Amino acid sequence: MAQNKRVAIIGGGIAGLSAAYKFQEEITANQLPIECTVLEGSDWFGGKLRTDRFDGFVVERGPDSFISQKPWAIDLCKRLGIEDRLVGTKTENSKTFVYVDKKMQTMPEGLSLLVPTKFLPFATTSLFSWFGKIRMGMDLFIPKKRNKEDESLASFVERRLGNEALKRMAEPMLAGIYASDPKKMSIKSTFPMFFETEQKYRSLILGMLAKKREMMSAPKRGPARPAYSMFMTLKSGLGEIVETILEKSPDINFKSGVKISSVSSENSNGEVKWKVIPEEGDPLSFDAVILAPPANITANLLDDCAPDLSNLLRKIPYVSTAAVTLAYRKEGFSHPLKGFGFLAPKSEGFNISACTWTSSKYPGRAPDDFVLLRCYLGGALSEELTEREPDALATLVQEDLRAIMGITEKPVFCRVYINKKANVQYLVGHQKVIESINEQVDKFPGLFLSGSAYTGIGIPDCIRNGNVAAEATLKFLFP
Ligand SMILES: Cc1cc2nc3c(=O)[nH]c(=O)nc-3n(C[C@H](O)[C@H](O)[C@H](O)COP(=O)(O)OP(=O)(O)OC[C@H]3O[C@@H](n4cnc5c(N)ncnc54)[C@H](O)[C@@H]3O)c2cc1C
Repeated sequence: MAQNKRVAIIGGGIAGLSAAYKFQEEITANQLPIECTVLEGSDWFGGKLRTDRFDGFVVERGPDSFISQKPWAIDLCKRLGIEDRLVGTKTENSKTFVYVDKKMQTMPEGLSLLVPTKFLPFATTSLFSWFGKIRMGMDLFIPKKRNKEDESLASFVERRLGNEALKRMAEPMLAGIYASDPKKMSIKSTFPMFFETEQKYRSLILGMLAKKREMMSAPKRGPARPAYSMFMTLKSGLGEIVETILEKSPDINFKSGVKISSVSSENSNGEVKWKVIPEEGDPLSFDAVILAPPANITANLLDDCAPDLSNLLRKIPYVSTAAVTLAYRKEGFSHPLKGFGFLAPKSEGFNISACTWTSSKYPGRAPDDFVLLRCYLGGALSEELTEREPDALATLVQEDLRAIMGITEKPVFCRVYINKKANVQYLVGHQKVIESINEQVDKFPGLFLSGSAYTGIGIPDCIRNGNVAAEATLKFLFP
């Protein structure tokens, strides 16, 4: 009988777990002889994706939702049989605000991320001055950029839509998603669709309108799909995905508390084997390895075996962020919370960059007689804040909420989660770094990389990326 092929997945974040579940599916469907072990350094699985549940509250430490336009997270939930656990954002009061000039300004309807696609809400919004609006409208006439080199997001948005669009919309919106400095972020790696739209249609506004028309006139194929809201989560939080993968993967060995210190290849009787050395315990041997920790840690693991690859991996930086969740009694709460929350541009001088009105945005996050808010701090534009003690951050957040929303009540609880060097940064030139990384990885048969560092930071991209790593591993092991 053929010997089982042994695979190690190092890192049990969502990327590593998605790869593991792919192996489980192959084992179930095709009885493939694989022995897969997930080696996770911490005491829990899920990595950044971690949900706390207590007293009827659902509090996310890291991500709180995922975008439904990218299909891989919803697809995984379907494969796991938890599609009925998916929940979208609430339909009532779906406005988002931007706090500028000491006022909550409604984000105009019809914005396709950054690009206005509806005239009236855009013309009547007080978020932008008339000069700002005219400048954004000039996108209709500005020629496309000739060279196709990567560019910073700030330069791209300023060139096409002007400085007001950058400061009042793009910067705060993207600070929330990428925790990045728009002056350093790569447009090609973060918003390739904007880069491509400019190249194809010249104008972003014309391009977005053309895409909208195409979608509306496209013949409907297959049965109607359920309508998902732009952001989705699960009834008991994103942690449900992690828990279900663990529960529904009986043939995978999940080992937590096993921190790996080095990975190298060795030749054993003409066959390449991967030697995985834990910080404690004996070395382990595998036919293939998927490395799914953050890139800087993967670099450390490969230092001895692949120094060139390690050096490239170290070019991908990370920044620290903090998320502060506060609960208040609903009775007597001084703010109506009619909306999903607000962004606070850096130019307004607050410590928080955004606040989600969690209990207004998602169902089931707090018991009926409480409200839940979540504030964001840190990131590339104010990383120093994350050096402060949790109590100091809690105070700063409450001061900002008092100034912006007039909240003077004492929270029932305030949970501060500091995510040190947790948010990967796709800098200008990121794609080229990834191409060089891929060239190096190809030199090591049986070595695969996965995770948010490479081709997409969001949960759907990490899931896609875990699937791709598992498929490539299967192809390598069973050519
Ligand atoms: C605060 C925050 C908010 C976010 N919000 C959103 C959001 O709302 N929506 C969204 O789509 N995305 C969001 N993201 C992004 C998304 O959550 C991450 O990109 C994604 O979870 C990363 O998954 P991963 O598997 O690549 O890495 P990780 O989650 O970092 O997993 C890597 C794992 O490797 C383990 N590990 C590290 N070193 C070792 C070692 N030596 N040996 C063994 N194991 C090791 C770690 O313990 C960890 O479990 C957010 C990220 C952060 C930090």
